[in-house]
Amino acid sequence: MSSRAPAGGKSCPICGKPAAPDHRPFCSTRCADVDLNRWLSGAYRVETDEPPSDATSSLQEGEEASGQAPRRFL
Ligand SMILES: [Zn+2]
Repeated sequence: MSSRAPAGGKSCPICGKPAAPDHRPFCSTRCADVDLNRWLSGAYRVETDEPPSDATSSLQEGEEASGQAPRRFL
């Protein structure tokens, strides 16, 4: 880390070129855009990949249905 890092300079995480002060930590707006798209698509994927509310609602429906059965017996 400290042996290879230049003074206050970081390399672009996308292409590895030296980052530009105006586009830190990237070397250009293009690389910043690429990283943003990666981040957005990753976050989007996580959101659509989580269907826990559906399972909970269907569970509640099942409990309601089974709770109605004993009422009929009374
Ligand atoms: Zn770059």
